[in-house]
Amino acid sequence: MDLTTLERLPLWIGGRAVPALTQRYGEVTNPATGEVIRHVPLGNAADVDAAAKAASAALPAWRASPPLRRARILMRFRELMEANKKSLAAIVTQEHGKTLADAEGSITRGIEVIEFATGIPHLLKGEFSENVGTDVDSWSLRQPVGVCAGITPFNFPAMVPMWMFPVALACGNTFILKPSERDPTLSLRMAELLTEAGLPDGVFNVVHGDKEAVDAILAHPDIRAISFVGSTPIARYIYETGAAHGKRVQALGGAKNHAVVMPDADIAFAADAIIGAGYGSAGERCMAISAVVAVGDAGDALVAELATRAKSVKVGPGDAAGTEMGPVVTCAARDRIVGYIDSGVTEGATLVVDGRGPRVPGHENGFFVGPTLFDAVTPAMAIYRDEIFGPVLSVVRVASLTEAIELVNRNPYANGAALFTRSGHAARRFQEDVDVGMLGINVPIPVPMAFYSFGGWKNSLFGDLHVHGMDGVRFYTRGKAVTARWPDDGSAAPGFHMPLMG
Ligand code: NAD
Repeated sequence: MDLTTLERLPLWIGGRAVPALTQRYGEVTNPATGEVIRHVPLGNAADVDAAAKAASAALPAWRASPPLRRARILMRFRELMEANKKSLAAIVTQEHGKTLADAEGSITRGIEVIEFATGIPHLLKGEFSENVGTDVDSWSLRQPVGVCAGITPFNFPAMVPMWMFPVALACGNTFILKPSERDPTLSLRMAELLTEAGLPDGVFNVVHGDKEAVDAILAHPDIRAISFVGSTPIARYIYETGAAHGKRVQALGGAKNHAVVMPDADIAFAADAIIGAGYGSAGERCMAISAVVAVGDAGDALVAELATRAKSVKVGPGDAAGTEMGPVVTCAARDRIVGYIDSGVTEGATLVVDGRGPRVPGHENGFFVGPTLFDAVTPAMAIYRDEIFGPVLSVVRVASLTEAIELVNRNPYANGAALFTRSGHAARRFQEDVDVGMLGINVPIPVPMAFYSFGGWKNSLFGDLHVHGMDGVRFYTRGKAVTARWPDDGSAAPGFHMPLMG
């Protein structure tokens, strides 16, 4: 059955599509046309409980299965994701708005996490020490945490869930995904493909919903670990509430990413990179560049180059050939972004390119905002302080690299930052002194590959471990240390003191 053609989406529990128990439904729109295309159930505590029961029932057999068998299922899932990439990307574009090429690219980045997770037999290997005491050996194991849940944002409906569940499943956990209610359909296709790949029923479940479903996940006693990606206020809430319920939590929050451009940089190269990183996916990426920090006399040339490029970005529906930037996700998102542009003007920034009210013929009801460029932005302005999450670049001018680093470090967000320079010395200082989780040197969107871990610092991450890579394996497993002896006469003298080895 093609679940994507249904007017009312089901949940996915116990290896099959099931109708939700909730009576509440939300609308899913196509941002390029403004039309409501389907309805998504907004799951309640009973829906979450049904998923948790299915995940709990599937856990004993799944965690006991050899990691190699789990890896082979993921290998088949990887092949299915690859074979279906175009149709999966079309779903992302239809509900999110990003271009087809961008949607395909995001699925590829998710597939890379599956590839990483297929190495799980190697990644789970522990340590072994012979004779930690006379005839006593010790070793360590990593065991699954249990039922895990992922709560994900709208901006990467394929990739962000794939940051989580391939690693969680490979480690022997079962999983409940609560995808964004704005673009929920892809999660169901991934569930179908996992089943087709041979994943046992109940190992992967999808519950749609909003705060009600999230709160039920946070309180559910059978759910042991929660991975969250979304905005900072919700990330903080998830971290605090999940921890209060005794759960392991990693909660990735919002961002305000800076690109620092030194006067010695190749300005044209930097401008090309910043345009793609600022306006790609209409700025709705947690690693999008939002603040451009022009050092010394880099400013005038940089603003001129950015303005020329910003004016030529082709805005249109994500599925049309030649489109470089699609709409933003909802009408509310468009209004929020336009409100920020208004406030930038009111607060005295120089509006170099105005993206308000772009004309997209045939798509008059779509949620479009054109590329917008501000110069002379100060740290006190709302367009600098807040995460806009739209196609708005703000140029802040500073006198030196020292000032640029201080500016970046004063910002409460700390997801990504980039430096454009030809100086190895400047690059080294930047890398050493910037308090941000992911850095790029002449790379505008430094998203780590799947075999490294992804995560920010400060208000961009609540928790200790980043996602995927070895941090992901650590998050989805618990360490256990075993100490063993096998005396051949079976006797041991009673000992009342602290056991000592040696
Ligand atoms: P969001 O915080 O509104 O929603 C994220 C998830 O939380 C969704 O599943 C949503 O249903 C749920 N949610 C929303 N409000 C809730 C509430 N009051 N209580 C409980 N759950 C709630 O984020 P979004 O708008 O979907 O996504 C955009 C945000 O995500 C941006 O801030 C962006 O920076 C961030 N993001 C961060 C990263 C990262 O790696 N740090 C990656 C992608 C997106």
